[in-house]
Amino acid sequence: MDQRVTARRPRVGMWIAGEEVQAVGGETFEVVNPADGQVVADVSRGSPDDVDRAARAAHTAFEDGRWAGLSATDRGRMLLRLADLIRRHAADLATLETVQGGKTVTDARGEVEAAAGCFEYYAGAANKYFGHTIPVADRGLDFTLREPIGVVGLIVPWNFPFLIASWKVAPALAVGNTVILKPASYTPLTALRLGALALEAGVPPGVLNVVTGPGASVGAAIVTHPAVGKVALTGETTTGIQIMKMAADRMTRVSLELGGKSPNVIFADANLERAAQAAVAAVYGNAGQDCCARSRVFIQRPVYDRVAGLFTDAARRLRVGDPLDPSTEMGPVISTRQRDHILRYVTVGREEGAEVAFGGGPPSDPRLAAGAFLLPTVLTGVRNAMRVAQEEIFGPVACLIPFDDEADVIPMVNDSPYGLSGSVWTRDLGRALRMAKAIRTGVLSINTNHSVHQEAPFGGVKMSGFGRELGMHALDLYTEVKNVFISL
Ligand code: NDP
Repeated sequence: MDQRVTARRPRVGMWIAGEEVQAVGGETFEVVNPADGQVVADVSRGSPDDVDRAARAAHTAFEDGRWAGLSATDRGRMLLRLADLIRRHAADLATLETVQGGKTVTDARGEVEAAAGCFEYYAGAANKYFGHTIPVADRGLDFTLREPIGVVGLIVPWNFPFLIASWKVAPALAVGNTVILKPASYTPLTALRLGALALEAGVPPGVLNVVTGPGASVGAAIVTHPAVGKVALTGETTTGIQIMKMAADRMTRVSLELGGKSPNVIFADANLERAAQAAVAAVYGNAGQDCCARSRVFIQRPVYDRVAGLFTDAARRLRVGDPLDPSTEMGPVISTRQRDHILRYVTVGREEGAEVAFGGGPPSDPRLAAGAFLLPTVLTGVRNAMRVAQEEIFGPVACLIPFDDEADVIPMVNDSPYGLSGSVWTRDLGRALRMAKAIRTGVLSINTNHSVHQEAPFGGVKMSGFGRELGMHALDLYTEVKNVFISL
């Protein structure tokens, strides 16, 4: 990081072939703190030429075996060192994450620790992932090999920048691929730090390259580059569709973690206080900018008024403010543009007949006026067919929807283009199991909103994408299966 420009506003280069480099064209873009509108860094604005440099570096690093040629145990050791370095720099990384993206520093600390845990997990997994021997009918020995794909392009969003980068980089490296990582343009700084820390951990130059710049040019150049064998995206569904189309010409492998509009179903027999409290965290966490946000809160009719009251009171009590203050519970959204987009949805909700029980605009505190702050917003009287209940708002807006019984709620829950996550609250085990089977999502949790676990698969169905990250499942995304038969 070149600190010469100003002490507060560094100029940050990309990581290609083990070096911090500026874009070929010399251009930069600004990273802005959404809490106060101040520019925090100038970052290299890459172009397809920079992607080509990174792809060549990654290709060379793959082909000469400096990474794939190491034993899985040695690769694991290096990833473990990287996990340790992340922990050593956790405080700085968390501050950087908060300053560039506006998430609370408390959340950022948790995510940096989870990212270290992710590298630790795949460090351990590297030498525990292997093929099979298969008893075929012919006389001989048949076995499978799990081989790295080669150069993989990893494109990540701004809502969990460091954590989601780790979800992709760690498994991809564990099995021997080389990487081009492209962070979102709002939040490139922690991914760039990851590039530096990987080198410090001993990961050879060219194995992890980090390229910054616009998705439409840099991201697209990664997807279409002939050296890139696989692309993993976390991002919007529309971006996923574009990437699938671009990838088709070269049969580039893709895995896509996309948008969501997840349900939270609260039955009358649930622990209502706990359910309402958790439902608030489940939709307003990260200021609602969470692909798993349970933004459709279905409440059984006999307890609707009570739960809606508990929910609205808890939303009213949420501390919105400076994300660097450890007592803050909700920071700004990513940009004023995103705030305008969210507010347009509040207007749409009103026009559709929903009522704003709380929020619906920025907080009145003048100290927050320069930032992209919004109050947690509660929409009541929502019907599942309304646009606010069908489209991903990606902001702190909850839709409260009444229902009668299981038969009534299941079709509503499944009447969504998305299928990522969801929760069900009930004390009836049989009902919990029936709901778990009936709801069409990739992950689901019962009596908790906690559905992302390092050791377990995570991903969506329908327009929420395909492929499963985390756990041992993620390693399948970064390998090809080769079958070998030896005649005996
Ligand atoms: P975007 O799809 O806008 O961006 C994601 C990444 O893709 C960014 O790095 C972006 O670059 C890049 N990109 C944009 N356009 C292209 C393109 N044409 N070709 C290649 N790359 C491109 O998503 P957001 O950053 O807005 O993230 C929010 C979205 O991510 C939400 O829809 C959310 O639901 C989803 N998400 C899904 C998760 C899941 O696991 N299912 C988890 C977290 C988020 P740039 O920033 O430069 O535009």
